[in-house]
Amino acid sequence: MSDRLSWPASWEEQRAADDASYREQLAYLLERSPFYRAKLSGADPGDGLDGLAHLPLTEKHELKATCTADNPIGAHLCVPMSEVVRVYSTSGTTGAPSYIPLTASDLANWVTGSARSYGASGVEKGDRVITTYNAGPFVAGAALDAFTLIGVNHIPVGTGSSERLLLAIEQLRPDAVVVTPSYAEHLIELADLRDSTVRRVLVAGEPGGGEPGFRAKLERGFGAHVTEAMGIGDIGPSLWGECEEQAGMHLGAFGFVHAELIDPETGRPRELADGASGELVLTHLRHRAAPLLRFRTRDHVEVWTSPCACGRNTPRVRCHGRTDDMLIVRGVNIFPSAVREVVATFAPRVSGRVLVRPSAAGVKQEPPLPVTVELAQQAAPDSDLAAAIRGRLRDVLVVQTVVELVPWGSLQRSDYKSRLVDR
Ligand SMILES: [Zn+2]
Repeated sequence: MSDRLSWPASWEEQRAADDASYREQLAYLLERSPFYRAKLSGADPGDGLDGLAHLPLTEKHELKATCTADNPIGAHLCVPMSEVVRVYSTSGTTGAPSYIPLTASDLANWVTGSARSYGASGVEKGDRVITTYNAGPFVAGAALDAFTLIGVNHIPVGTGSSERLLLAIEQLRPDAVVVTPSYAEHLIELADLRDSTVRRVLVAGEPGGGEPGFRAKLERGFGAHVTEAMGIGDIGPSLWGECEEQAGMHLGAFGFVHAELIDPETGRPRELADGASGELVLTHLRHRAAPLLRFRTRDHVEVWTSPCACGRNTPRVRCHGRTDDMLIVRGVNIFPSAVREVVATFAPRVSGRVLVRPSAAGVKQEPPLPVTVELAQQAAPDSDLAAAIRGRLRDVLVVQTVVELVPWGSLQRSDYKSRLVDR
């Protein structure tokens, strides 16, 4: 195995190395980053990583506010554009895209981190791997080079034609496919893949792969092991990757990225301890082009720091959703993925697809919360079923809902990401 793909001997040892990297990164920011020179003026950086939590958080909108016609990247750009080897865009689901510049060393570190994350899933040199990311302008494209580093036989198919993808699975006989959870769900409706050669399904791009009910559905449909990976455009692709133990995603970008946890409402730090949950905050450790410090990811995660049976000594996370998707019903936080997970327990009577339709604008909602549930193929609407779903949602998530059952095929299918909330 290449040194670039080895894991730390212990987390303490990694933490000590990260502390040294962070001190250099902070000095670099104060010297090179107009954004952080202004933001950190007067702040006490304390002593290395132990002092990090005293520094202010970075919000995406703050970075965007510094973009100008002369500098469309933003004031966090630390190098002349002549040193930049690539510029990605974030997908810009809300507003104009952000540009993500990388130096050659930034790009190499992204590929190394992604290769560790995908390597954790068990794919190895010699395996055939079909990927469905459309590299294009987006950060996920950089993760594709990770498969070259691992040494697999990489077969990029992209999205756009499911027929072509299914034909490639049949003819090229891959060991693994890399897809979004939504596309994986769609593929097993289109074809019976239980007898295909696929033994591993690597999902990323949205939550779902780690929800037990949804994962079980994909594993049944593919007759394969499902593991997930996660990144965030502004920091890096595939920062986290799940091993075969399926016990959460390991930090594969260790040494390049430092992870913290905060209370999403107050912004106060929470200890990154076994079983803790909160919003993930990430800091670059060795980035050059446009490094970020304490960047709010808006991803709500659960964390584990206890040893994993696989022996990889980095923290693990499971993402339950993004702040943007969260609703608050009478003080209770509800992620639509949690609604889907509860509804999935009614399979095979339901298809597993749901759409939460909040009646008011904004995050805060008055009960009952309207939820549309798609029935299984050939299933007829049944008021007892709707009542049973409503009852289980109330018992598990402590939320009053009104459940509407709709025929199979009514809710959107996607070869990218699914919308679980209709705002
Ligand atoms: Zn593990």
